Amino acid sequence: MSGRSEPGEIQVISLGDCPICGGKGTLKAIQHVHEIPYFGKVMESTIICERCGYRNADVMILEDRPPKLYSVRVEGEKDLFTRVVRSKSGTIELEEIGVKIEPGPAAEGFVTNVEGVLERVRETLLMAREFRRQEGDEEAVKKADEILEYIEAVKEGKKPLTVKIMDPLGNSALVGEKVKSRLLTQGEINSLSLGPYVKVEPEEGGGKDG
Ligand SMILES: [Zn+2]
Repeated sequence: MSGRSEPGEIQVISLGDCPICGGKGTLKAIQHVHEIPYFGKVMESTIICERCGYRNADVMILEDRPPKLYSVRVEGEKDLFTRVVRSKSGTIELEEIGVKIEPGPAAEGFVTNVEGVLERVRETLLMAREFRRQEGDEEAVKKADEILEYIEAVKEGKKPLTVKIMDPLGNSALVGEKVKSRLLTQGEINSLSLGPYVKVEPEEGGGKDG
């Protein structure tokens, strides 16, 4: 990649042939840089195949960010607008309902807010619930209903929710007034999944901190 990326600019890059369907020159990357106020520049990129419809999205923070744990306690409707930048290497935890969104082959990067994350979780839960219902797993259906109810209560500002995001590569964050953050410990970094990324170990020794 060459050139500087400015906010608002959309770039379309041809990636050649599609590895999924073999389409000749049908794979493209659409990149969009935008600025998140009080945070910095973020690049959203989506890879699309015009032929088979293959699609995958990711996000990258364009400034140097150390790997941190960001958390916010959502207690009212206003907190639902806390920005969420989640790259494929980011793990999201919704504490009170025991939901974790982890990196994996199907993981997608996105820029949204807490409300958007809750909507994604709701959709996934509804699908899982239907699957369990067909299997006759009443226990799992009941559990899903409880979580769905809790999500509704959070959206109405009636129940609290602690949202956390952790990314060993520093490409994910929460942005908002009430957001707290601290550096991830080496132990946490080691225990987090990286999704499609491969970790390059920095050289040991030197004992520098911060
Ligand atoms: Zn294709």
